[in-house]
Amino acid sequence: ARRHPRRSLHAPGSGGACCRMERTFIAIKPDGVQRGLISEIVSRFERKGYKLVAIKLVVPSKQFAEKHYHDLKERPFFNGLCDFLSSGPVLAMVWEGEGVIKYGRKLIGATDPSKSEPGTIRGDLAVVVGRNIIHGSDGPETAKDEIALWFQPKELVSYTSNEEKWIYG
Ligand code: ADP
Repeated sequence: ARRHPRRSLHAPGSGGACCRMERTFIAIKPDGVQRGLISEIVSRFERKGYKLVAIKLVVPSKQFAEKHYHDLKERPFFNGLCDFLSSGPVLAMVWEGEGVIKYGRKLIGATDPSKSEPGTIRGDLAVVVGRNIIHGSDGPETAKDEIALWFQPKELVSYTSNEEKWIYG
C-alpha cells in the first residue's frame, strides 16, 4: 500500500500524482494595501482552497519594479506603472494549488476593472486599469521567474495542510 496519500507533502513539479500542483506569484499592489483590501483578497484565495506558502510586505525600489514589469518596458504606461508599484507597500505572496496559475487569474479578473466580471477581485474592488489592486503571474514560466525575483527559496514554506484531503479528495 502507498504510505503517503496522493499529493501530500510532495513539492510541485516533483512528479507523480501531484504533478498538477503549481505555485503562482500574487501581489497586492500599493493601492490594494492602502485601501485596506489585504484580508478581503487573501481570504478569496484561502476560501477557494489554495495554500499560502510565502507572504511578505515590501516596498520595492523603482529598479525592482522595472525588473518585475520588464516585459512591458516598451509600453507608454511603463514608467508610471513602475513609479506606482514602488510608491508604497506591496503584499507579495506565493499560492499553491492545482491549476492556481490560470484559475488565480480568473479570480483576479480582466486587467481593466471596467471590463472585469462582477465576482472577480478587480470587478468587485477596482475601477480603473492604472489602479487595479492586484497582480498575478500569467503563466508557468512567468510564475517561476516572478517567485524567484520576489522570494528566496528559504522563504517558501512547505507544509501539509490538513484540509487538502477535503479539497482534493
Ligand atoms: P495583468 O496585470 O492583468 O497581467 P498586464 O501584464 O497587461 O496585465 O499589465 C500589467 C499592469 O500594467 C496592469 O495590471 C496595470 O496595472 C498596468 N496597465 C496595463 N495596461 C495599462 C494601461 N493602458 N494604462 C495604465 N496601466 C496599465
